Amino acid sequence: MPKTKWVYGFGKAGGDGSAKDRELLGGKGANLAEMCRIGLPVPPGFTLSTELCKWFYANDKKYPKELTSQVTTALAQVEKETGAKFGDPAKPLLLSVRSGARTSMPGMMDTVLNLGLNEETVAGLAGRADKRFAFDSWRRFIQMYSDVVLGVDHGLFEDALEDMKSEVGVTEDTALSGDDLQTLAARYLEIVQEETDAPFPHDPQAQLWGAIGAVFGSWMNRRAITYRRLNNIPSDWGTAVTVQAMVFGNMGEDCATGVAFTRNPATGENVFYGEFLPNAQGEDVVAGIRTPHNLTKAERVASGSDQPSLEEAMPKAFAELMTMRRRLESHYGDMQDIEFTIQQNRLYLLQTRSGKRTAEAALRMAVDMAEARLITRDEAVMRVDAASLDQLLHPTLDPAADKTLLTRGLPASPGAASGKLVLSADKAADWAMAGHKVILARVETSPEDIHGMHAAAGIITARGGMTSHAAVVARGMGRPCVCGASEVMIDEAAAVLKVGDVRINEGDMITIDGGAGEVYQGDVPSISPKLSGAFATLIGWADGARRMGIRANAETAQDARVSLEFGAEGIGLSRTEHMFFDTGRISAMREMIIADSTDGRTKALAKLLPMQRQDFLELFRIMQERPVTIRLLDPPLHEFLPKNAADIAEVAKQAGVSIESVRDRASRLHELNPMLGHRGCRLVVTYPEICAMQARAIFEAAATAGEEMGKAVAVEVMVPLAATKGEIDICRAIIDEVAAEVAKETAAKLNYIVGTMVELPRSCLLADELAESAAFFSFGTNDLTQTVLGISRDDAGQFLRHYADAGLYPQDPFISIDVAGVGALVKLGCERGRQVRPNIKLGICGEHGGDPASVDFFEECGLDYVSCSPYRVPVARLAAAQASIRRKLAG
Ligand code: PEP
Ligand code: MG
Repeated sequence: MPKTKWVYGFGKAGGDGSAKDRELLGGKGANLAEMCRIGLPVPPGFTLSTELCKWFYANDKKYPKELTSQVTTALAQVEKETGAKFGDPAKPLLLSVRSGARTSMPGMMDTVLNLGLNEETVAGLAGRADKRFAFDSWRRFIQMYSDVVLGVDHGLFEDALEDMKSEVGVTEDTALSGDDLQTLAARYLEIVQEETDAPFPHDPQAQLWGAIGAVFGSWMNRRAITYRRLNNIPSDWGTAVTVQAMVFGNMGEDCATGVAFTRNPATGENVFYGEFLPNAQGEDVVAGIRTPHNLTKAERVASGSDQPSLEEAMPKAFAELMTMRRRLESHYGDMQDIEFTIQQNRLYLLQTRSGKRTAEAALRMAVDMAEARLITRDEAVMRVDAASLDQLLHPTLDPAADKTLLTRGLPASPGAASGKLVLSADKAADWAMAGHKVILARVETSPEDIHGMHAAAGIITARGGMTSHAAVVARGMGRPCVCGASEVMIDEAAAVLKVGDVRINEGDMITIDGGAGEVYQGDVPSISPKLSGAFATLIGWADGARRMGIRANAETAQDARVSLEFGAEGIGLSRTEHMFFDTGRISAMREMIIADSTDGRTKALAKLLPMQRQDFLELFRIMQERPVTIRLLDPPLHEFLPKNAADIAEVAKQAGVSIESVRDRASRLHELNPMLGHRGCRLVVTYPEICAMQARAIFEAAATAGEEMGKAVAVEVMVPLAATKGEIDICRAIIDEVAAEVAKETAAKLNYIVGTMVELPRSCLLADELAESAAFFSFGTNDLTQTVLGISRDDAGQFLRHYADAGLYPQDPFISIDVAGVGALVKLGCERGRQVRPNIKLGICGEHGGDPASVDFFEECGLDYVSCSPYRVPVARLAAAQASIRRKLAG
């Protein structure tokens, strides 16, 4: 039987693997092999595979017998290529030993550099280079190895270094001489002896095996385990270990080290971008001890630096690097982030990987590369992280503006907004009605604050996390929001918000940046989102690739216009109860809810009818021939009941009844759990006249709009919260009757269908029965998540954070659909609905409609469309296209 291959070499002759072998060699090992394969200058080395890591853990942290000889052979090849010898004082080969998993886990696992140094080889190195360089490498190696492999506290070495500097009377590490560093290294060795009761291992072979074991071992350290959990990386992948010949950027003035991006990672511009330090080691560039210099002359000039760029200081190496840049990009077809070292004027590449980038840069690069035929259009569409588009779709603070930071909190809902500070929801609603832009600040929000949140341009809370009521509602409404700004003290009675000694009075201007989680004093100017040329181009390509339709959740004219601008193909949810949040209207709505007789209700409904008709007419006019889904009233009653004495008095006056009777009725209507209460179609079953009024408003508006357009508008009337076929039938009978009346009265031809929201587990399970009466389903995954998981959206904030920490629901189920529970019911609902009505129109209108991972799942369910808040429409367009392309690629 052939022996298993555990060790994969790379060097001048090419590599034993390629970029395709990430699973076996880890990202780093695979890319090093690939770079060697295409003839780039990479210091030689070898990679121990992830299979070996698995063997190591399955066999009590031992290695297979044949490993030693495979490592010996690979090491001999490295020696041959470098002309140096491991452990040979005359010309010592030094190695780096690094981890490398399938996907990058930055900084989570261990690394050892300068391996192979000991008292003899350091002397040899000092002879070849200079003494300072040799002993600096030696003391760094003792510290790193002792920390990573022997478990000695690195603080002890840092203390010794500080002592040394004060003895010599210098403040910078670089001011220590070769002799100083030699003394320091000797002290380091004493520390190791004291701490481990054993001498530091001088045998290079023992060092190598110690380091390999430590790097494999670091796969299971706490940091790595936590990182994997948070990023959904399976622990059975294992890490590879890459052993590579060291090259030095710190051997003198003809040496340097740096990092480069093949294009500008912030803007996406097709220019070389990066920084370097002459006579330095890799970590000096990232550590920020010395300020790195620019790579190109153009960058240096732009930044006003007086330090020569690499282009000017080392033109030959720079020209070589430019060649590498072109080769790497055309080879990988993507922007690369490279690490390089120049040792005595010779350029080496130490790493290449896909570079991280901003959303703006991702768009620009994807489009540029597709236009240059480096990649296909489908590839360009797949390149851009759909969720990151969110950054580009909201107003942002003008970077040039002067601003004074007041405090920080969590970036709960993106966008920038300024307005007058208000501390209560009622005030927010009143001031907004009077034409002011307001920012609502609360300790935390509850459903009672909804009207104020709706009226506000932005929201701040002092308490609560990313899934608190404020955060969830603000994202749904597209309002910028900063949550959990814990320094904020709110004194509602004194009408003041305090942060330390700073006092902001109600009515003073304040600004928030919901994407950054920042709160500023005063009115900071913002800039509107610009859908750049690249954005439009890419989203156009995405539209060509996607199967699902994209609609928006919108009920106001403003939201409908934004939806259209962002490319919505219809309205998937118009929440009619939201049309009554305005101060002028809420009292009529309250009157209707409070009425304890049909008469009283009819009177209140008569006030609501013209308002509704006007709202619908506006929506139809804006959306033209596109479908508009109007949901019958679904008010959780507590959001509309009058609460304070003033509200109660107002309702009593409007309705012409006593204050006492309003108070009495309100307390009888009070529900312990309004989310599970008397709402949705249940209201129609008890009060059919509500449905009749809404149907009339819808169809009269449709008749008018149809006449204006010369074509019937496409109305989809949606029955909320149905759990039985009977409920839909009751609503439908009313709707059909009113439609017939209106058609007769107006002589209009009406084009409508009646369907239902599926937001209860029973509705999914009995979807076949519902489909007998419903022409369409729209999954209400907000309520479905609440009812399937038994978690209230409003109360989930605090405890879901602990759940995430404990690894339960690592993704917030109100943001990304819980595929195993809620998702399974959606799938079942689709299947059962189609059994009875093969052409049933299927959509989803919960918050999940704008979440890329959820959109991918809905593609799998075969939904006809997703509907999300207006600002997320472009995110959904791109995510839906990616879901289609993914399935095309999978065949
Ligand atoms: C839902 O439940 O998913 C939904 C869209 O309705 P609402 O959020 O209005 O309850
Ligand atoms: Mg709902």
